[in-house]
Amino acid sequence: RISVRGLHKWFGDLHVLRGIDMDVVRSEVVTVIGASGSGKSTFLRCLNFLEHAQKGIISVDGEPVPDSERARNALRARLGMVFQHFNLFPHMTVLGNVIEGPTQVLGRSRKEAEEVGRAYLAKVGLSDKEQAWPSQLSGGQKQRVAIARALAMEPEAILFDEPTSALDPELVGEVLSVMRELADEGMTMVVVTHEMGFAREVADTVHFMDQGVVVESGEPQALFTEPTQARTREFLGQIL
Ligand code: ATP
Ligand code: MG
Repeated sequence: RISVRGLHKWFGDLHVLRGIDMDVVRSEVVTVIGASGSGKSTFLRCLNFLEHAQKGIISVDGEPVPDSERARNALRARLGMVFQHFNLFPHMTVLGNVIEGPTQVLGRSRKEAEEVGRAYLAKVGLSDKEQAWPSQLSGGQKQRVAIARALAMEPEAILFDEPTSALDPELVGEVLSVMRELADEGMTMVVVTHEMGFAREVADTVHFMDQGVVVESGEPQALFTEPTQARTREFLGQIL
């Protein structure tokens, strides 16, 4: 379980996260929705310690993560991250991308990492692409490689930052279906998304963020059909 309490983040004078509280329970799928600029990506990056939040506590299984680079690196290795723009290593093949973390960070042998990597590529339906270069793939294929790469680190949770919003509409489904399968298998996931269908069907909890705070949280059915906050209603009215 990951617990966030009173998280604040400033970029200079800009107060981007203004006291975020959130719990991510093991095997649950949490989605975060909200307007552009509301702080969703910044929140995910703080959760993964890619950004430093100036105030607040992040705890894992009840233990606050100590304020040390070592502790943050250790936690980062336990959390996978999938980005909007894939962020594959362009000079490595598909399999090379997938085995990089396991060999460099986890110290696995190349042979072992390749075996595991091939299994995850099969899982995302890309066995035939292991020797391809990222530039030879469609956006949906790139994102599935990014998911296989995250899985190869055997993370305790995966954070997704708008994983489908850079994709052509016809490629969105193949990525969402891989994500749905992971959710069904019990992967803990935090998903920032504009895909309300996915949020509605897969999420255990939806959080609506606006201007650096979580305005409203709830089960998707309740939040989408009977939001209690005016700002949530207004946002949903614009996108649904
Ligand atoms: P979107 O839906 O467009 O991705 P978001 O909810 O993810 O938006 P963030 O990217 O977290 O929003 O940005 C929140 C605010 O923080 C914005 O005003 C943005 O300009 C600002 N911001 C984000 N990153 C930085 C940075 N590295 N330096 C300065 N300001 C930043
Ligand atoms: Mg963002």
